[in-house]
Amino acid sequence: MSGAAWAFMEDVIAKNPGEPEFHQAVQEIVESLMPVLERHPEYRKAKILERIIEPERVIMFRVPWVDDRGEVQVNRGMRVEYNSAIGPYKGGLRFHPSVNLGIIKFLGFEQVFKNALTTLPMGGGKGGSDFDPKGKSDNEVMSFCQSFMSELFHHICGNCDVPAGDIGVGGREIGFLFGQYKKLTRQFEGVLTGKGLNWGGSLIRPEATGYGAVYFAEEMLKTRGESFAGKRCVVSGSGNVAQFATEKVLDLGGKPITFSDSSGFIVDEDGIDRDKLAFVMHLKNVKRGRIKEYTDKYPKATYQAADPKVDHNALWAVKCEVALPSATQNEININDANTLVKNGCYCVSEGANMPTTPDGVNVFLENKVLYGPGKAANAGGVAVSGLEMSQNSMRLSWSREEVDQKLHSIMVNIHENCRATAEEYGTPGNYVNGANIAGFLKVANAMMDQGVV
Ligand code: NDP
Repeated sequence: MSGAAWAFMEDVIAKNPGEPEFHQAVQEIVESLMPVLERHPEYRKAKILERIIEPERVIMFRVPWVDDRGEVQVNRGMRVEYNSAIGPYKGGLRFHPSVNLGIIKFLGFEQVFKNALTTLPMGGGKGGSDFDPKGKSDNEVMSFCQSFMSELFHHICGNCDVPAGDIGVGGREIGFLFGQYKKLTRQFEGVLTGKGLNWGGSLIRPEATGYGAVYFAEEMLKTRGESFAGKRCVVSGSGNVAQFATEKVLDLGGKPITFSDSSGFIVDEDGIDRDKLAFVMHLKNVKRGRIKEYTDKYPKATYQAADPKVDHNALWAVKCEVALPSATQNEININDANTLVKNGCYCVSEGANMPTTPDGVNVFLENKVLYGPGKAANAGGVAVSGLEMSQNSMRLSWSREEVDQKLHSIMVNIHENCRATAEEYGTPGNYVNGANIAGFLKVANAMMDQGVV
């Protein structure tokens, strides 16, 4: 990193103590943007970088609720409204015990650039709670969601801040949240995305992030005259993104062979076909079971428990050509990245947000891996959320084919924008720089137009 970038980061770290994921996300952007700031002194004069790293607003609140035993529980809720230069705040809600302010800030910050890349008019935000939906009854999840929304509704609306799902927030949670919003406001409006199909949701929204990450990988592969046909694909996670990334890999003739959750991972050397995928969807979405149960149904597959004591994730030692990390942040470290490269992996498309540590990213870049960073590769989810907002505003619904075709062309455009921008700034093939610079320019120019606010 240059001296100027170090000095900038020292300030960020001092001002935001105890937020390592946020520091990591800012550092990556700052490194990419140094050449942009040299070329555009007007951004430096207007302190665009200093302003863009500061959220416009942070809301933190108590979420009390009563569990099935009649005991009072207290969680912490938050919403970070990061940047509204190009549209209403937009970004998911995460319910997971690991949630803290630093994680929500990193996610909100990344969201600003990601949303700009989609070309749709959406600002960036993120929210969530340290609530863990795992092991809770539907009644407990509803009680929590209602309490969460009883505060959040003061801060969101169809034209100001439109949350969606993320880890731990799927169709069930969005339903409970929307119901409470409507009860409190008497407004049936497009205030959340990922809604049910018969009450304002968009076709292809559940599929969009996973499909989009695979469309992005397909575009990267095309630059080397390759395709998914016959490629072994390692997918992490077994939630929303992992499931639909797997479905699209199958559509394109690839061979998905893994799934994981926070307890461990399965490997199926015969390949995960559509029947096996349907089993996983039922297991995770309806039964809310663990991925280990895959081997009860398919005994030829193997299961390995996660070992938090080792300095690598054994999933990434499974041989593959394409890796689709789709679980959580920092799930690929430098050791995992080296193992992937050593075993012949040459395409990594991130369904998850920031799943690779910075030194892991460097391994990919140094080894000329086709590496699609999350803020570009997983932008399909928020892009279709944007399309859901458009359909809500027009009070109509597009067909499955129409939405999928729009999603595909958005992902092709994001890939091309990142590729061309990386080249323009002297780092051809570096999609990290391409995504960071292209996203930044759109937001920065809007901020320049709107004055010092
Ligand atoms: P889900 O809750 O549906 O699934 C998350 C999956 O990741 C589960 O299999 C979960 O396992 C696993 N996981 C979560 N935390 C950890 C952890 N700390 N260690 C190991 N495994 C973990 O979430 P999504 O599929 O929606 O989200 C996955 C990733 O994709 C996240 O990074 C999210 O931010 C990102 N993303 C999601 C979008 C969306 O539209 N949903 C849009 C853009 C990005 P377990 O069940 O054991 O917790």
